Amino acid sequence: MTGHRILLVEDNERNLKLVRDVLQYAGYDILEARTGEQGVELAQRSSPHLVLMDLQLPGIDGEQAFRLIRDDSRTSGIPVVALTASAMKDDRARVLQAGFDGYLEKPINVRALPAQVLAFLSREEPNR
Ligand SMILES: [Mg+2]
Repeated sequence: MTGHRILLVEDNERNLKLVRDVLQYAGYDILEARTGEQGVELAQRSSPHLVLMDLQLPGIDGEQAFRLIRDDSRTSGIPVVALTASAMKDDRARVLQAGFDGYLEKPINVRALPAQVLAFLSREEPNR
């Protein structure tokens, strides 16, 4: 147990399971959402320490879900990291410009993931 709750918003079952299993093994508490709407609601309800947000989701996409999280005072301070497809080079610049706290490229590097997540959790909260 690290005592950290991480909200994973991902509609692809294989990616969801992979990231969940790796992070649970590393001691994190994982909350799961499969749509952007679910993710926003769960962020409001459970105040996770970090959100990992897939961009392509059914219903509202990851960027829209991110904005709803940012614009709500209950969730505006939660760091949100985008999960981007590495082939989509434009995505990286776009998510940083949109204000995401960072991105992780898919396919996820399972060996590196726990340390990457810890690094995002350890950052000083930037002024928003
Ligand atoms: Mg997706």
